[in-house]
Amino acid sequence: MAERILIIEDEADLRMTLTDRLKSQGYSTDCAGDGVEGLEKATKGSYDLVILDVMLPLKSGFDVCRDIRKAGHVMPIIMLTARGQLVDKVLGLKIGADDYLTKPFELLELLARIEALLRRGAVAPAKNTEVHQFGTLRVDLRGTSVSRNGETVPLSAREFRLLRYFVQNPGTTLSREVLLKEVWGYSEETFTRTVDVHVGSLRQKLEPDPKQPTMIVTVPGLGYKFMG
Ligand code: CA
Repeated sequence: MAERILIIEDEADLRMTLTDRLKSQGYSTDCAGDGVEGLEKATKGSYDLVILDVMLPLKSGFDVCRDIRKAGHVMPIIMLTARGQLVDKVLGLKIGADDYLTKPFELLELLARIEALLRRGAVAPAKNTEVHQFGTLRVDLRGTSVSRNGETVPLSAREFRLLRYFVQNPGTTLSREVLLKEVWGYSEETFTRTVDVHVGSLRQKLEPDPKQPTMIVTVPGLGYKFMG
């Protein structure tokens, strides 16, 4: 079945170019021309990935991204930023985007990023228990939702996949290299530091005291271990 991609972009030319190219690659596409329509479609439809422009009418791409995550959706989001627009990667992680491309970009580069994000996006194997409860934290692997005390914890696609991998491998020391391979897939721009940044971000969102982590613990010199 074709993977479904939602394009939220107000420039009609770029929207058409992207639609044509993605369709020729076998993806199924849908479009929105402003932030409000984009958020509506992203949260009501079922998309495997969202391409999201930052500068949009009615609602900015940053706000759309944050609200998609707030609504509990964890599909990968690639943001398109204008040339010269400084994007704070830390802010990006906080609002839940998975990747950025600066305009103008090569379509081949965008396709490569899409493939990298979708490759790791397959649903959790059915043999795994689907809903896990850790204290007040509830992780639903099939429904791809995470909540604490009944409130949705907004996670990016990468954060969700990282958490899913931890949950599926409890009590096992996982090296940064293994996490990179299993969660990111090897790619040139990823480094082990990326794992640390995402683990830090998950701790901020999930640990009762992120400075004294008890859920995702560091194994000095080796990596991380999920204690549940
Ligand atoms: Ca725009």
